[in-house]
Amino acid sequence: MSSSVDVAVIGRGLIGSAAGRHLAESGVSTALVGPGEPEDRTTSPGPFSSHADEGRITRIAGRTMIWSDLAARSIARYRDLELRSGITFHTMTGLAVALPTVDDWIDAGLINGSNIRKVEADWLREKTGIAVTNGHPIAFEGKPAGHINPRRLVAAQSKLAALAGATVIDHAVTALDRTEGGFELTGGWGSLTARRILLATGAFGRGLLEQQLVVERRARSVVMGEMADPGGIPSLILADPPDSRLEDIYWVPPVQYPDGRLCLKIGGTVVEDRTVDSEDELTDWFHTGGYDLEIDALQTSLRSLLPDVSFTSFTSSPCVITATASDYPYLGYIDDGVAVAIGGNGAAAKSSDELGRLAASLFSDDGWTDSLDAETFAPQLR
Ligand SMILES: Cc1cc2nc3c(=O)[nH]c(=O)nc-3n(C[C@H](O)[C@H](O)[C@H](O)COP(=O)(O)OP(=O)(O)OC[C@H]3O[C@@H](n4cnc5c(N)ncnc54)[C@H](O)[C@@H]3O)c2cc1C
Repeated sequence: MSSSVDVAVIGRGLIGSAAGRHLAESGVSTALVGPGEPEDRTTSPGPFSSHADEGRITRIAGRTMIWSDLAARSIARYRDLELRSGITFHTMTGLAVALPTVDDWIDAGLINGSNIRKVEADWLREKTGIAVTNGHPIAFEGKPAGHINPRRLVAAQSKLAALAGATVIDHAVTALDRTEGGFELTGGWGSLTARRILLATGAFGRGLLEQQLVVERRARSVVMGEMADPGGIPSLILADPPDSRLEDIYWVPPVQYPDGRLCLKIGGTVVEDRTVDSEDELTDWFHTGGYDLEIDALQTSLRSLLPDVSFTSFTSSPCVITATASDYPYLGYIDDGVAVAIGGNGAAAKSSDELGRLAASLFSDDGWTDSLDAETFAPQLR
């Protein structure tokens, strides 16, 4: 194991593992440092991640041109990642959206190569069993939209990073100290020195930074509804769901969970969104099973949107969204030798490979040269 590298990526989640792979594959001496999942979420001291799950929606169409562009660039590389790592993670079930802003989604999608098109509620009900009654226009995006398995994507990125020569360390960093030539990282494995740092720790890790970013950590619950038959259900994003305690919902089509159950996962935004400030509070949140009101509203919406499905059980779990002031991830330097790639805004899983590539480019000789403006991703400090 190399104990001195040029760049240490702290955080081996979706964005960090992608950045680590891009750095290593471009010949930079890299360490990729971050723990796997806690054995027992309900008692672990953390850190936790926003990706410890079996499904995340993927799609080209999105709420802005830039989000669509990021997604399209990432999706174009999924197959290469699967083939080279031997780890599959992408399933193309399609996506339905029912939102007041559907026309914007269609515009952004079409420019970025999506096949998204408007459909009628009756068509959606007949083809997929989804009963949309919110009165908003509906669109459907076919392949490659669908879902990805975030755990498997992190595994694929970590494996490829290691194959390209990165030192992959399966531990949290507990201390980060500036030294004469760079930084010293310390954790359960020992220590490591690095000339430069990329912090990609998601909702956690703020104790490692001297400066604080302008981010909001939003506590979210998800509900897994167990069903017998996956049917032909696509991914779904919908505003004004049947239960008015929610502003919007999304779901990932039924996938097999590690305990053998076939579950559709639904989440959303409660009208009274809740933020968590301190890291201790966030850890406490991860020890719970979620927020009762949100869980109830998600179950009600799910039953009403899929009236023909009988769910055999429901479980729930907590999660966290890291939201930035700009609504785009922060990718940039915040101090001499310290860059961040933080703030998925609830939408970065699908685009994590491109976000990791852009973050890795910060360490290249030329720096950021992309056609997307670096200002869009500029970190904002408190
Ligand atoms: C409920 C929910 C549903 C979502 N659904 C979708 C979706 O359908 N589609 C989509 O595209 N996006 C979705 N997202 C968003 C997506 O999952 C996140 O944007 C993404 O996980 C962010 O990646 P990240 O690498 O920033 O953070 P994470 O994936 O959370 O990774 C951060 C990593 O840093 C590690 N870390 C923290 N502290 C330290 C430390 N001190 N030392 C070392 N490592 C540390 C953590 O252990 C973690 O592994 C969803 C998010 C949530 C919460």
